[in-house]
Amino acid sequence: MPTTALVWMRRDLRLSDNPALEGARQRCERIIPVYIHSPDEEAPWQPGAASRWWLHHSLEALHHALQERGSRLIIRRGDSLGALRALAREAGATEVHWNRCYEPAATERDSRIKAALRAEGLWCASYNGLLCNEPWTLKTGQDAPYRVFTPYWRQLAPRLAQQPPPTPAPAALPPISDTLERLDVDALALQPTIPWDQGLREQWRPGEAGALERLSRFVSDGLDHYAEARDLPAVEGTSRLSPHLHFGELSPRQVIEQVQAGRPDPELSEPYLRELGWREFSYQLLYHFPQTPAEPLDPRFAAFPWRSEDADSLLAAWQQGRTGIPIVDAGMRELWQTGWMHNRVRMIVASLLTKNLRQPWQQGARWFWDTLVDADLANNTQGWQWSAGCGADAAPYFRIFNPVRQGERFDPQGGYVRRWCPELHRLPDKLIHQPWQASETEREACGVRLGRDYPWPIVDLKASRAEALAAYDQIKRGG
Ligand code: FAD
Repeated sequence: MPTTALVWMRRDLRLSDNPALEGARQRCERIIPVYIHSPDEEAPWQPGAASRWWLHHSLEALHHALQERGSRLIIRRGDSLGALRALAREAGATEVHWNRCYEPAATERDSRIKAALRAEGLWCASYNGLLCNEPWTLKTGQDAPYRVFTPYWRQLAPRLAQQPPPTPAPAALPPISDTLERLDVDALALQPTIPWDQGLREQWRPGEAGALERLSRFVSDGLDHYAEARDLPAVEGTSRLSPHLHFGELSPRQVIEQVQAGRPDPELSEPYLRELGWREFSYQLLYHFPQTPAEPLDPRFAAFPWRSEDADSLLAAWQQGRTGIPIVDAGMRELWQTGWMHNRVRMIVASLLTKNLRQPWQQGARWFWDTLVDADLANNTQGWQWSAGCGADAAPYFRIFNPVRQGERFDPQGGYVRRWCPELHRLPDKLIHQPWQASETEREACGVRLGRDYPWPIVDLKASRAEALAAYDQIKRGG
């Protein structure tokens, strides 16, 4: 009898550098790649609408890549343990291999499944296919998890440089019997019923081939200028690999290898690798502080006096890109239309929501969760807690971004604002980030009437800054 292994695919939707697939191939003659759709197990963080859109296309791409190699992707629905059991029985599999997930609900589920399958006599193995470094390995001198990035990075950086080389995708895989039932990707109903996804389709190519193509384009065209261009939202100065990394369509090892091979000069590669270091840092925070998607890491912030007056309308204006503050509105509209937002702008919109509008960071994290194609529990939680001032190594709460100054500094010609807020297109550069400072005649000359074509600011930046600082003083004093 040939030996058969299931390869349970989740956040590793690729064939190259896939340790679980490699592990199974080394031990067994027949390989059954399986994806199980079981959103209930991810409650309360079930994939949002943009993530589901991506997942649909990524699963299709994976199935095609498997078909090209003589295999296919078996798709099932239901509870993961039940589905694995049933498939193992049908296929005569004696082994199950998977790459680890690190979200609290997934870790708990996977340990339970491993114990149950082993008790039933199946051989199980899990691997690291998502990170460069397991989140439990690096500790401070006091044997505690890191809460500050710089010392963490000092330990991590040399390890990134010594990753084993990534493995290539197998040229062929053993065929899978037609008798094994497979759901079509459409049956998972991941696609929107109202077609709002045109902007996403124009922008992205989910799947391993799209990921590798974007990586090689970034290494040849973007990496040299990354350090200067990464903060400028009007240019394509970053890699935009985040959704591909989230879904595991390529591994961080593959990214590091290409970056180092393309630009061996550490001056050029370090600023980029450091960002991958932030990703690893976020995962070690989520691993050690599993409560943080819902609760502030700094417990003082649990008592923060968020603003309740007009809360719903403030949140709605922020979500819809109608705050009257151009760089914020541009970011929120970019997010809505493309499922992605530039990192600098993510920090600006998060600061406005949590500080000037004094709305809970969890509300912002939820909106991002639903609308980002790269929505990632570790990175999103870390990004929001950092921005709100309550997380690890956070921007101090009292450092409140002034969105006008941020716009003038990082979008000096207003190209980003003009792209996403075309109603402001004709305003001169010096007014594009604060149309309310123009005289009515100046605005009329540019075809902008505030309150009609574009909103007045929903908040006074100076007064709301002072109120936020007063609220912060209150929790600092513990009252
Ligand atoms: P690049 O600049 O090309 O960076 C390369 C890779 O490094 C990224 O793809 C990403 O995987 C990682 N990375 C970069 N910056 C960070 C960071 N600050 N923290 C952790 N990892 C980072 N990133 C997500 O992947 N998913 C999220 O849900 C998410 N939510 C965020 C929410 C807020 C409020 C903030 C401020 C940041 C958030 N980030 C999130 C981090 C960052 O904005 C994105 O990773 C980045 O913009 C993705 O674009 P890129 O791939 O072009 O990045």
